[in-house]
Amino acid sequence: MSAAIETPPISKPLDISIFQLTLDDLPAGPPSRQQPLVNPISMCLGVALVISQEAVESPSTYGRYFLVHPEEIELDETLHPVFEDISIVFPDEIPDDSSQHAFWFNTGLKHGSQVLSQLLDQDIVEFVHPIRTHVTGPQGGGEDEMIEYPLVRVKLTDKQMAKQCGSCEIWEQRTDKERLSICSRCRNAWWCDEECQLSGWKRGRPVPHKKLCRLVNTS
Ligand SMILES: [Zn+2]
Ligand SMILES: [Zn+2]
Repeated sequence: MSAAIETPPISKPLDISIFQLTLDDLPAGPPSRQQPLVNPISMCLGVALVISQEAVESPSTYGRYFLVHPEEIELDETLHPVFEDISIVFPDEIPDDSSQHAFWFNTGLKHGSQVLSQLLDQDIVEFVHPIRTHVTGPQGGGEDEMIEYPLVRVKLTDKQMAKQCGSCEIWEQRTDKERLSICSRCRNAWWCDEECQLSGWKRGRPVPHKKLCRLVNTS
């Protein structure tokens, strides 16, 4: 049955990069059931491709960026793989001037400035030069407080980042036996396996990948 549907081949990337962060409000090890997160904390950078809302007419994708636990923490099975969403999306201003992954870093996060400085120090991201900032007013009124969000570029390759399946939305982790596979035609979608690929190909929302794959194909 699936032989009749011409999906492009998918290929498995190499291992993701792990780095360490130290956060002010975490104790030093060892981890316990009450305190599974201790310094230094191992992380990887995760990327999820999101299809823009105007997708029906002209589909395109952009990345959301996350700090992802590189492996399940056995002490706390309820811990989500995603530690923090570090990107912020401005609807009209998704960076399109970089061939590499780039995003607005959300410095308004609880750990925002600590995380950013450590990612810069460890060569995970760099400021886009010249530095651009997006200034926004406070939520719900007020005039004085403005937040600047720096635009950063990811210095890791696709292969070094954790991915999210475009179909079932599972996150890739280091301990997984299988890496996610990239769509070899558009390089804009990752899948667990051919079953997830076929599901996204035929029934992906808001646009089936069959349509998106053709339109974002840059090769
Ligand atoms: Zn999947
Ligand atoms: Zn594709």
